[in-house]
Amino acid sequence: MKDATKATHAGRAPHDFGGVVNPPVMHASTILFPTLEGLRESRKIRSGDAHTYGVHGTETTFALETAIGALEGGYRTRLQCSGLAACTLPLLAYLGTGDHLLMPDSVYGPVRAFCNGMLRRMGVETTYYDPLIGAGIREHMRPNTKAVWVESPGSWTFEVQDIPAIADVAHAGGATVIMDNTWASPLYFKPFEHGVDVSCQAVTKYISGHSDLVMGSVSCTEDAYPAFQKAQEQSGICPSPDDVFLAMRGIRTIHARLPHHWASGLRVAEWLMGRDEVAQVLHPAMEHDRGHALWKRDFLGSSSLFGFVLKPQYRSEAALAAMMDKMRLHGMGFSWGGFESLLIPVDPPNIRTATKWPREDVADGQLMRIHVGLEAVEDLIEDLGDGLDRLRAAS
Ligand SMILES: *Cc1c(COP(=O)(O)O)cnc(C)c1O
Repeated sequence: MKDATKATHAGRAPHDFGGVVNPPVMHASTILFPTLEGLRESRKIRSGDAHTYGVHGTETTFALETAIGALEGGYRTRLQCSGLAACTLPLLAYLGTGDHLLMPDSVYGPVRAFCNGMLRRMGVETTYYDPLIGAGIREHMRPNTKAVWVESPGSWTFEVQDIPAIADVAHAGGATVIMDNTWASPLYFKPFEHGVDVSCQAVTKYISGHSDLVMGSVSCTEDAYPAFQKAQEQSGICPSPDDVFLAMRGIRTIHARLPHHWASGLRVAEWLMGRDEVAQVLHPAMEHDRGHALWKRDFLGSSSLFGFVLKPQYRSEAALAAMMDKMRLHGMGFSWGGFESLLIPVDPPNIRTATKWPREDVADGQLMRIHVGLEAVEDLIEDLGDGLDRLRAAS
């Protein structure tokens, strides 16, 4: 079956629920067992496999897990209460005191904070590596390297990683490859076909698609699942059934929304290339981009989250405020992946440690991150044009 069909049907079983199209929203803590034997047998059920207790999932959560898993691949998918929890729980599952972790320098900031905070306190050492390193990751591998993280492209600086090359080296060294696959969504990057063992999603973004909930998911290969399953069971992390219901509405249309995001994102990116205030556009789906060849080789489509660099003369905070404070359609806020457009300035030099930003092939200037939503692209371009005019006038 194609992805559009899976997104529409996976996880639904109407005739188990009186013919109702969508799975019911089950609000549950206690699950009752009809017999003593049933109660005793339930102790043998691996959490997440059947109803035993609200924390461990219900038909509502299992349905969304099935739908995400059908698109992303892998053996099992488990829901988390946020995208960040979907990133931190695998780290807790696969790492312990004395272990070493490799993280790309472009990693999502709060994950970096977790490594430098909690993981360090637990005695796990993190080495940050150049996301463009490819097979060169070999030089950072140690006998105690237990996990190698990838995020491609990074959600601020958009470096595309050679995941198969990195995964080969990681596996040769016995490490688990964990990916933050949020940018592409399960639709546009199939992690398990490229050597990834564990894939994390911020369901918050494109899967939910409506900026009205936070949730995460972790999908694992069969080999990687037992260790993750234990961490899930021990952590008590679980999403609210009402949020699962909303996320389920999102995933049913992801295949209809993403091509629109992809096309509008490219139109806006191409238009930005023609603006005099813009020094460079960082968008892996554009031919000039450094990551384009890898994107073309490995990805099935593009998200509409990308970056652009303003020329150095447009660096004043007052001029930037003149632009940003009066945007009509582009909201200023964190997160992305909803139906609406967003625009923020980002400052990667403040957090990178393994690589210099801007990289030698990236222009120096204020980096902006844009999420192109589902508005009419002509209206978005007009809003951006007016904003860049204000920036120029105030500079
Ligand atoms: C948003 C995001 C997360 C975290 O998701 P939350 O639900 O906001 O916690 C993780 N990784 C990436 C790449 C993200 O963009």
